[in-house]
Amino acid sequence: MPRRTAATLATSGEVLRLIRSGEAVTRADLGRVTGLSRPAVQLRVDELLERGLVVERTDAPSTGGRPPVRLEFNAAGGVVLVAALGASRTRVAICDLAGVELAGREFAMDVEQGPDVVLPLIMDTWDELLGDRPPSMIRGVGMGVPATVEFAHGRTESARVMASWTGVVIPPIIRERFPVPVLVDNDVNVLAIGEHRGAYPDLDDLMFVKVSTRIGAGVVAGGGILRGAMGAAGEIGHIPVLDGAGVLCRCGNTDCVDSVASGTALLRDLRAAGKDVKTIADVTALVRAGDAETMAMVRTAGRRIGEVLAGAVNILNPSVVVLGGDVAEAFGPLVSSIREVVYRRSTALATRRLRIEPSRLGAGAGISGCAVMVLDHVLSPEAVDETMTVSLLRRA
Ligand SMILES: [Zn+2]
Repeated sequence: MPRRTAATLATSGEVLRLIRSGEAVTRADLGRVTGLSRPAVQLRVDELLERGLVVERTDAPSTGGRPPVRLEFNAAGGVVLVAALGASRTRVAICDLAGVELAGREFAMDVEQGPDVVLPLIMDTWDELLGDRPPSMIRGVGMGVPATVEFAHGRTESARVMASWTGVVIPPIIRERFPVPVLVDNDVNVLAIGEHRGAYPDLDDLMFVKVSTRIGAGVVAGGGILRGAMGAAGEIGHIPVLDGAGVLCRCGNTDCVDSVASGTALLRDLRAAGKDVKTIADVTALVRAGDAETMAMVRTAGRRIGEVLAGAVNILNPSVVVLGGDVAEAFGPLVSSIREVVYRRSTALATRRLRIEPSRLGAGAGISGCAVMVLDHVLSPEAVDETMTVSLLRRA
């Protein structure tokens, strides 16, 4: 390992990264890995200890002599506030700095009520979940919303999908009550981040497809989420199917896969065929009972999703396609049709090692994805160094 020159001295933020990743567990390790002098290591470790980001542990001596003091990342040194908004269900939680949920609540809420109703309700819930933890514990906020989001600004962009939210810039509204970094992304990107980090941390290329009330996808490419120029990457729901009957989609086009194969579309088509179905659970009951007409419609939906996915697989060449969302989770026949079509229609090279798997984290992927998103930001060396500078300035 080359020793660093004065120009590239490791900062406190980098020292935290080394401790967090386990690359360095003692002050001696830090000196060796960074090339910093002993006093310089001490200064940075002291800062991190003072900020509560690192704790010292002393193991009982096993063979006599003084054991070295181990440095550990302190997951209990703060919390992040997270919220995974769905079209109809929302989960709100607080997590520690390792992303472990400390307290959470799930409720049915129509996001179309708009930000003036929804955001205060979420912030009140965070306050309740925080209990008597002091505000200084709060390090950041991570949110997933069912709309296209211009990630850099946290601005919701989709006009026809979450109409009352169009153009709303969420972070400043949250920061009025919680003055910390606020990160907002679309709900499916957040699910993709959660599933990637929680279930497939060693894979760099993953596509998460959510089949629920709506259809959407989040793409992890080269280890990071693919957002595209305006945050609209992965919006596969509005790719048209080949053999549609001219169904008008809420986006204004016709025969989008969302308008012919989502949970909403299935319910609509089954009702039109005279079935008494109000929820996805009712459809599940018909599938379990072996109702031929329902099974055929579910298979058709799967085939159409598969056709669109086959195109996406050809472009992106993921190692794994994860199928999540309540519709995908409920229907075996849907998933098998999707698999069959993707393997048949994608190129041989793209499918040579492709796995198509059900979501392992299920509904929990939303909350853990929000936590990962905000923690990656607030614990990054740059962000940690910036807060250090601020606290040093305050002290001066
Ligand atoms: Zn559409």
